[in-house]
Amino acid sequence: MLRGAMGAPGLASVIVERVSNGAVTEKASDWDGSVKVRKAYKFDSEEGDAGGLVELLYDILEEIGDGGSRYSEKRVQIRLVHGDKYECKSGCAICAPEGAMGD
Ligand SMILES: [Zn+2]
Repeated sequence: MLRGAMGAPGLASVIVERVSNGAVTEKASDWDGSVKVRKAYKFDSEEGDAGGLVELLYDILEEIGDGGSRYSEKRVQIRLVHGDKYECKSGCAICAPEGAMGD
């Protein structure tokens, strides 16, 4: 189990628990942390299914980070890419600009 920063007053926290077919997160949705929201993400690197992992990382960035914007000098970007040794012959969604996540 991986745990994020916990309990700092006024700051968001996300708990990430790895499970066999992905991960489950728990975060506080209320200002005082009294309401917990859990969300499941399914991913499996053995099967090449990484979409849920990208969604998980994107949600964590949204929750705890300031990743910058399209107008920032520097910004954090989370998206699927091909391995640098992989040759894509189909022009798939990963290659297309629309495949990028996050604005
Ligand atoms: Zn491709």
